Amino acid sequence: MAKSDKQEALVTEITPQSEDFSRWYLDVVRRAELTDYTEVKGCLAIRPYGYAIWELIQQALDRRFKATGHVNAYFPLFIPEKLLMREAEHVEGFSPQVAWVTRGGDEDLEERLAIRPTSEAIIGTLYSKWIKSWRDLPVLINQWANVVRWEKVTRPFLRTTEFLWQEGHTAHETAEEAQEETLKILALYKEFAETELAMPVVDGPKSESEKFAGASRTYSIEALMRDGRALQAGTSHNLGQNFAKAFEIQFQGRDKSLQHAWTTSWGVSTRLIGGVIMTHGDDSGLILPPRVAPYQVVIVPIPRGNWQETVLPRAQAIKADLERNGVRVMLDARDEYTPGWKFAEWELRGVPLRLEIGPKDIEKSQVLLARRDTREKMPTPMDGLTAAVVRLLDEIQNALYARALTFREEHTQRVGSYEELKAVMEGRPGFVIAGWCGSAECEAKIKAETQATLRNIPFAGGEVAGACVVCGKPSSGEAWFAKAY
Ligand SMILES: [Zn+2]
Repeated sequence: MAKSDKQEALVTEITPQSEDFSRWYLDVVRRAELTDYTEVKGCLAIRPYGYAIWELIQQALDRRFKATGHVNAYFPLFIPEKLLMREAEHVEGFSPQVAWVTRGGDEDLEERLAIRPTSEAIIGTLYSKWIKSWRDLPVLINQWANVVRWEKVTRPFLRTTEFLWQEGHTAHETAEEAQEETLKILALYKEFAETELAMPVVDGPKSESEKFAGASRTYSIEALMRDGRALQAGTSHNLGQNFAKAFEIQFQGRDKSLQHAWTTSWGVSTRLIGGVIMTHGDDSGLILPPRVAPYQVVIVPIPRGNWQETVLPRAQAIKADLERNGVRVMLDARDEYTPGWKFAEWELRGVPLRLEIGPKDIEKSQVLLARRDTREKMPTPMDGLTAAVVRLLDEIQNALYARALTFREEHTQRVGSYEELKAVMEGRPGFVIAGWCGSAECEAKIKAETQATLRNIPFAGGEVAGACVVCGKPSSGEAWFAKAY
């Protein structure tokens, strides 16, 4: 295959978003080398480029967890059946998705072991040993781990049988402190998603029917993808004393009485990578926000004449200077591909900024910078280049956030009646804001008739006196509905 044919093939390999968004997504994750399928259904390998995005997400979150007093620990993968059974709602919620180990080596196990779908049960039993007095509180532990949930329908990053995540598990002396922790983490998730992923989210409580199995209250951050579907991007649960009672997490209070602790749990997962892809990507592939881009700049030398003696050393010097200033750089000096092929390839892989340098640029003491998000091309002097790149990366990060926010605003509608809600749900997808009385029946009716679920009741909405769009009874707040991943 000639080089130009190869380039053509590469571009046409991605289905346009407007033609089939779901196909586009699958094409992008495969062609950008983020994941690959394996022999085990629903279990995907995360390839180095995809894993590098996850590592940047991890680092950014881990910094925030530690800055708010949390520490990391690790708990076992296996949970004995009797432990998982202790919290009734929890068992009921998770049992359809649990994978079991029944044999070890040559022997059948006396008690089967669950592969953790989440770790409340195993951590709860340990907290009951570790927490004896009010002086032992709060306990603020996070775990980075894999979990398994047996899924029937899977999609790379968004829903897989095994996935990577972090799960925080905290225990507190009072109900107020547990609630404060739950909301503190939700705010941390929101700030993280908006700052690092350039992904605007709405934060607020979920309804009773959408809460975590065993929680008193669940809060979420919800983002809007480019196909108009919502993505739950993180959850924070106030578990009340439910798990403390089930796992006997008790302590002697300041008044010497024996009390149950108040606990929380919270998590985000590799699903966030799917969120980034579907928030920013376009028909040419990925667009990565600079803060989570494995390579923020790709340098493509233009091979003319004796470029390896002239252009290449300059490109290497630029790379070194950028790296000294904390910029992640890929220098693509491969001789077997044309610059045009490389442009398309790194565009597809979402590198925020391309830096072209050839013999003519060197004569003029400049380079050509090209933005992935706007495709704008800017001749930039070599003098002060690193500072200009750092500034541009910041600008791209902000521009991506602004663009995503505008998209969300353009795809969010407030409705005053149930007919209107149904009509909107049949039209252009997005968020629909509607009065809701708080009843599970009205919520279920909307879900059954429009497939839209109640995402959450955003804090930013505040108290709005109105009426439920389904039953007409008074509502005190507005809920956001959408078809969701
Ligand atoms: Zn109602």
